[in-house]
Amino acid sequence: MGIKVLEEKCIGCGLCLKVCPFAVIRLENKKAIIDEAGCNLCGACVEACKKFEAIEIKREEQTSQTKDLSAYKGIWVFAEHREEKIQNVTYELLGEAQQLAKELKCEISAVLCGDSNIEEEADHLFAHGAQKVYLVTDPELKNYKTATYTRVITELINKYKPEIMLIGATTTGRDLAARLAIRVNCGLTADCTGLAIDPEKKILLQTRPAFGGNIMATIISPNHRPQMATVRPKVFRKSKIQNPKSKNIIRHKTDLKPEDLVVKLLEIIKDESVKVNLADAEIIVSGGRGIGEAKNFQLIKDLAKVLGGAVGASRATVDAGWISAHHQVGQTGKTVAPKLYIACGISGKIQHLVGMQGSDTIIAINKDADAPIFKVATYGIVADLFDIVPALTKKLQEIRG
Ligand SMILES: Cc1cc2nc3c(=O)[nH]c(=O)nc-3n(C[C@H](O)[C@H](O)[C@H](O)COP(=O)(O)OP(=O)(O)OC[C@H]3O[C@@H](n4cnc5c(N)ncnc54)[C@H](O)[C@@H]3O)c2cc1C
Repeated sequence: MGIKVLEEKCIGCGLCLKVCPFAVIRLENKKAIIDEAGCNLCGACVEACKKFEAIEIKREEQTSQTKDLSAYKGIWVFAEHREEKIQNVTYELLGEAQQLAKELKCEISAVLCGDSNIEEEADHLFAHGAQKVYLVTDPELKNYKTATYTRVITELINKYKPEIMLIGATTTGRDLAARLAIRVNCGLTADCTGLAIDPEKKILLQTRPAFGGNIMATIISPNHRPQMATVRPKVFRKSKIQNPKSKNIIRHKTDLKPEDLVVKLLEIIKDESVKVNLADAEIIVSGGRGIGEAKNFQLIKDLAKVLGGAVGASRATVDAGWISAHHQVGQTGKTVAPKLYIACGISGKIQHLVGMQGSDTIIAINKDADAPIFKVATYGIVADLFDIVPALTKKLQEIRG
């Protein structure tokens, strides 16, 4: 594996320098020189040099012929925790892993890294369906840091060889999954909205929106292991608490190197400005472009308040500057699955639907009877939201005293 400048073809045009995102290419005597230590083989320079074909990348070919895929067994879920409390997305992934494991007839494991007292959390993982927990403890693993977590989980994957690895598409999970995929040389499907097993080939079918959400693409990784996917919180249901089938803890000793410890966590400062917790809300009232202007969000807020719910929004309203992006539901916003989702003046474009169609009950208020939101709505009200929303709020206020 490596990158090479073919001197006889390089004319010293400098195109590669301009596109290198890591600034590791320089010109010497009108020839490009690449500092391999800083290069991550992204291929931008090869693309820029297409005309001269003076840069070559040799990637390690790990196909099913060279890598024994049958050695990879079981489904792993990364146990994400914050302040030493396992995050719900982990339980959601364990729930989905149980469905996949039925097809594969394999074991489900969780990967838990942290300080010594994180071991107490292993019981929650067992109760949510993990049969095995790979546990790595070290004071340096108390909080998530890219280098340390990547190091230990890479060690685990290389040693114990999971067939599938599922990670929450959270800020932490997205950061970790990308690094791991590079380290263990496997593919990664980010932000999946559906997972299944191909009944014949027994490989993971990873579905996610593609081309701006206009199609749903199903992606496979037939030649590399593990098959790695991230899934956003609330896409799957949390697994039910159950009596553990087994409680097998595999302790792994890691030997963190000084180069893994270059980042020091000095302080954790919570962003107090984010007061919206859409992901955990049981009721969400969302406003779309149909509300007409920013000040009319008050109608949505009033209804949300009387219901004890949170305020959501379509991207059209966020882009218009009517409300902050923290409220956005959808493909580029949050994925939510409340008990009740009320969509007011939202057309129901696919990019919005992928973020809320998992809600238990959906009520849509829209004056266009053909609006696509009605296809996913449990109850549809074809009417002017300015008539319906205030009337509903008033009635609920009366009922609630
Ligand atoms: C890559 C990409 C990512 C995207 N990500 C997201 C995302 O995360 N979330 C998201 O929401 N969108 C997203 N979008 C944008 C999405 O395609 C739509 O443009 C957007 O969802 C439309 O918002 P809307 O329904 O509020 O507005 P519109 O589509 O304009 O719909 C407004 C609706 O209000 C109705 N209406 C108007 N007046 C009234 C009234 N008085 N009473 C009742 N109904 C009324 C209309 O009939 C209409 O159906 C994304 C787009 C792209 C390309």
